[in-house]
Amino acid sequence: MFYDILIVGGGHGGAQVAVMLRTQKFAGSIAIIGDEPEFPYERPPLSKEYFAGEKEFERIQLRPAKYWDEREVTMLLGKRVARVDPVAHMVTTDGGETIGYGKLVWATGGSPRMLPIPGGDLPGVQGVRTRADADAMKAASESARQIVVIGGGYIGLEAAAVLNKAGKKVVLLEALDRVLARVAGVDLSRFYEKEHREHGVEIRLGVRVEAIEGVDHVTGVRLADGEVVPADLVIVGIGIVPAVEPLIAAGAEGGNGVLVDKLCKTSLPDIYAIGDCAAHANDYAEGAVIRLESVQNANDQANVVAKGIVGDEAPYHAIPWFWSNQYDLKLQTAGLSTGHDEAVLRGDPVSRSFSVIYLKAGTVIAIDCVNATKDYVQGRMIVTAGLQATAEQLADIERPLKELLSNSL
Ligand code: FAD
Repeated sequence: MFYDILIVGGGHGGAQVAVMLRTQKFAGSIAIIGDEPEFPYERPPLSKEYFAGEKEFERIQLRPAKYWDEREVTMLLGKRVARVDPVAHMVTTDGGETIGYGKLVWATGGSPRMLPIPGGDLPGVQGVRTRADADAMKAASESARQIVVIGGGYIGLEAAAVLNKAGKKVVLLEALDRVLARVAGVDLSRFYEKEHREHGVEIRLGVRVEAIEGVDHVTGVRLADGEVVPADLVIVGIGIVPAVEPLIAAGAEGGNGVLVDKLCKTSLPDIYAIGDCAAHANDYAEGAVIRLESVQNANDQANVVAKGIVGDEAPYHAIPWFWSNQYDLKLQTAGLSTGHDEAVLRGDPVSRSFSVIYLKAGTVIAIDCVNATKDYVQGRMIVTAGLQATAEQLADIERPLKELLSNSL
């Protein structure tokens, strides 16, 4: 077997490379090799509409099944790449098959980080990454009486919201002193903590989990102070471990992700990496090397690779954006707030429609918008432009954000 383009990983990034290559009239052979059994599907609904039972699986497929056949994209599903030989331009699957490639695109995302503590792998302890995980979580939650969510990031909070809506008792444990600490400012964290508590989710901050209790199934979560929080289902949402082992073993530079340049090329010849597993210097993080875990990043890096392959090379320079749905709250984020030295509240959180704008040395670097789509659309523009503005100007809700932009030109 040989393919001109072999894409490892049939998630958001991998699928988009194939889509974009065909859109760009690439005529060579393309295959996607992925370890999940399904055709590419959207991952965000796994902790939102799909988990809540509001959307069927068919509605979250990235393309109808026949699309791949019609576009002559070979799907090699249920196979995991175990080894890469960059000299022979060949991969080996866990079943021992070898497949040759002209160019390899590594788009493997990551697996849920689990807790390295006693009982951390007991039945009833569930990470969330795949459809299979979401199905298992849904099935287990139906009979569960008390559910503990470990981790107050997006996935943990979204799962807690769905479960709460389904009438389940949920305790959410977060090690830091606020939820969303890795991705947002204090105002937003406090707002979401309050919302969840008002809905009945018990949020406990600054707690350290020491062990998961149970014999052949989880019965509780033991905290550092000895308290045991009863649980018959534990959902773990504490980030991912990027799936880069075979590439690193083959000699690619990296560690926490595989290192790529502006064209998403790894240090190995003819091998690209994109999406959650790609460590790249991001223009919106002042060039710091980071991994972004978002659909935007996976899609935009996929487009950079596909265009590069057809000879239309352009460096990756896309504004990061993200969203999260919890209860009736739609959060939309543009830019990266890490390293901000000022956060400006625009609107009143009590109204449940407001934004937080982040500045660094007077320059707008990011915006979080809660039920405020107009601010989000215009906020993206001011982040992209690197607008210089005062807190007073940004907080003035009578004044559309884009007006500040035209005034600064
Ligand atoms: P993935 O989509 O994870 O695809 C990687 C694929 O590669 C997987 O199928 C994996 O099984 C496979 N694979 C791994 N190793 C191998 C191997 N060796 N051989 C073969 N196949 C392999 N992002 C947002 O922007 N907004 C959201 O609201 C949002 N919500 C999310 C909710 C959940 C529950 C999760 C899990 C993620 C969410 N994300 C969200 C993140 C987003 O889904 C990811 O950023 C995106 O899927 C990354 O795409 P990717 O192609 O890099 O990886």
